[in-house]
Amino acid sequence: MGLAVSGHEISLDERDASSTINFVSHAHSDHTGAVNKSKPILASELTLDLIEARKGIEVKRQKELSGTKLLPSGHIMGSKQLYAETNNGLSVLYSGDFQMDKPILAEKLEPIQADILIIDSTYPDPEVKFDEKEEVVMAMQHYVASKLEKGIVLFGAYSLGKAQDIIKILNDVGISPIVDRKISKINSIYKKNGFNLSYSSIYEDEEDFNNAIKGNFVGIVENSKLKELSISLSRAYSKRVFTAVATGFAKTFNMGCDVQFPLSDHADFSQSIDYIESCRPKIIYTFGRGSNPSIFAKNLSKIGYNAHRFINYAGISESALIEKSYDNI
Ligand SMILES: [Zn+2]
Repeated sequence: MGLAVSGHEISLDERDASSTINFVSHAHSDHTGAVNKSKPILASELTLDLIEARKGIEVKRQKELSGTKLLPSGHIMGSKQLYAETNNGLSVLYSGDFQMDKPILAEKLEPIQADILIIDSTYPDPEVKFDEKEEVVMAMQHYVASKLEKGIVLFGAYSLGKAQDIIKILNDVGISPIVDRKISKINSIYKKNGFNLSYSSIYEDEEDFNNAIKGNFVGIVENSKLKELSISLSRAYSKRVFTAVATGFAKTFNMGCDVQFPLSDHADFSQSIDYIESCRPKIIYTFGRGSNPSIFAKNLSKIGYNAHRFINYAGISESALIEKSYDNI
């Protein structure tokens, strides 16, 4: 069961047999499981464009719905929070993936007051603290400039969002990277929407690509191809290939490359507190993967918030959610 709003059942980034409309916060694949051709999708126009380009299908577009508002979540291009006034008279805010920092290529998050906040739990631990984004960006620019004198630099990145952020960061210091096919496809949607990105791709302009590979260059590829490609590039060009990633998980995992930059498009714990304080909810439900929601709810409760783990979108009915909320308010 999804949220009951204006005679509809809205699912939240998840497949739900009983929903009549699926809300999709943004086009990352772990949030588009509910996408199919038959049910209308409530999402920003940019997200709908990205979904169609990535999945190669045409979807039913639901750009707005009375009783709801889509507000920027600051995560990637087109990402939105869902604010809904439910049939039960309570306001619910679903964050989707979000960050409070100014994003590199997306609209900044707009908070709104709501009775119930359903919040993402990607970084549930107060010990994980992101550095100032500016500092991380400058470190990336310095690293790339110095390594380009010695060889090739290869970044592994999500093809949507992070890859375009890295292109922009490099463009700002006069570097135009080479990108793979998937990234080039997504770049075309960014460009269509006014984001000026400079890069080379063999799938767009072969001559430009051939010029770019004449000297040392920066490549951006999907994470899964980073290792394999660094080995083949090193053999093909007889050059040192420096491997890099740019992700918030650089704070928590060893990614097995030469350098890892903690550049995140998520909120860390302290940003999440800022978000909660801006939305002033009476009750908080934490959602996400694995044990993160439980850890997050526990850590929030410890510092006095009325926080609980959100079992899952499909597994809890709105009436149960509201009933529980009234109990807890
Ligand atoms: Zn995401």
